Amino acid sequence: MAKIPSYAAAAPKAPLGPHTIERREPGPHDVLIDILYCGVCHSDIHQARDEWGGSIFPMVPGHEIVGRVKQVGAHVTKFKPGDMAGVGCMVDSCRDCDPCRRDLEQFCQRGAAFTYNGTEMDRKTPTYGGYSTQVVVDERFTLKVPDGLDPAGAAPLLCAGITTYSPLRQWACKPGDKVGVVGLGGLGHMAVKLAASMGAEVTMLSTSRRKEEDARRLGAKGFALTSDEETFKKLAGTFDLIINTISAPHDYNQYLGMLKVQGTMVLVGVPPEAVPVSAFSLISGNRRLAGSLIGGIKETQEMLDYCGKHKIVSDVEVIPIQKINEAYERVIKGDVRYRFVIDIASLKA
Ligand code: NAP
Ligand code: ZN
Ligand code: ZN
Repeated sequence: MAKIPSYAAAAPKAPLGPHTIERREPGPHDVLIDILYCGVCHSDIHQARDEWGGSIFPMVPGHEIVGRVKQVGAHVTKFKPGDMAGVGCMVDSCRDCDPCRRDLEQFCQRGAAFTYNGTEMDRKTPTYGGYSTQVVVDERFTLKVPDGLDPAGAAPLLCAGITTYSPLRQWACKPGDKVGVVGLGGLGHMAVKLAASMGAEVTMLSTSRRKEEDARRLGAKGFALTSDEETFKKLAGTFDLIINTISAPHDYNQYLGMLKVQGTMVLVGVPPEAVPVSAFSLISGNRRLAGSLIGGIKETQEMLDYCGKHKIVSDVEVIPIQKINEAYERVIKGDVRYRFVIDIASLKA
């Protein structure tokens, strides 16, 4: 067991601070990664503050991890020391159940081992995330980060990237489709970039007028303010697909009205409280309301390769770990352009 410096939340209301964790010695199938950068996802905040319930403390958040392979086990074939590697939201699963066999490990029937706020598959050993200097992960759950991608900008692809890529693929986003993206934050800005790269005509639906210029720079053709009731009337029946990334409770019914007949709104944002959906919002126009949780390992690698080919990374603001509590407050205020990424060198200083 190696002792590893990290930042942890000791309890739901506690600010994050320095903490030491233990990582296992790498086994025959494991990769030991020196972490370079870790993105700050809104899910880190929801979980560190126990907003979804059931959080485990102390918690070392972080599931947007990019680093350099330091050491590999005897049976590892995909990686060698020096390679750039990524770790997303999962570090293991049973590998044998129906969802695992269908490359949907996030829905493992025995419960996937999530990167933090969970346990390994032994259901005893706690998992700790990327706000730390090193991680040890089975090579099956370790991703290859394409050469040529900036490592800080690539880190958010491991969650924000796959979480938006996967529903765009599942609902077959194609050139000419009208796609609405709701909420211009970490997930939202990746959704705009990815949908635009797939040829869709993207409209940003935001509460922040000041983000309009950025939305257009990221690839949106249209921009509409959702704080203006007129928007919902003007855009009624417009979109084939809406990717909804809002992290707080809001009225889904209003947004469903902006779908075309048979259009789909996919929820990727996870507001802690439930919100009622009226049957009328769905039956008028055979509209569909769907959800999507990250993506399996195979699709995550496909997304990274796609981003490598299309030179897509996240727009990031790199921070030292000492600024993490301030960064959380700014994310909650919607004041981030568009993902904070921790420079893990600051944890070694
Ligand atoms: P983020 O950077 O905070 O972005 C969320 C955006 O939603 C904000 O920038 C803001 O955009 C908008 N927003 C926030 N509060 C709002 C409100 N009360 N009303 C309307 N709009 C509001 O968060 P993120 O990291 O992108 O994550 C977004 C959500 O997705 C979180 O709930 C997170 O837990 C969840 N998530 C889900 C998955 C999954 O697998 N499904 C994966 C990762 C994250 P504007 O300023 O443009 O309005
Ligand atoms: Zn995330
Ligand atoms: Zn399984």
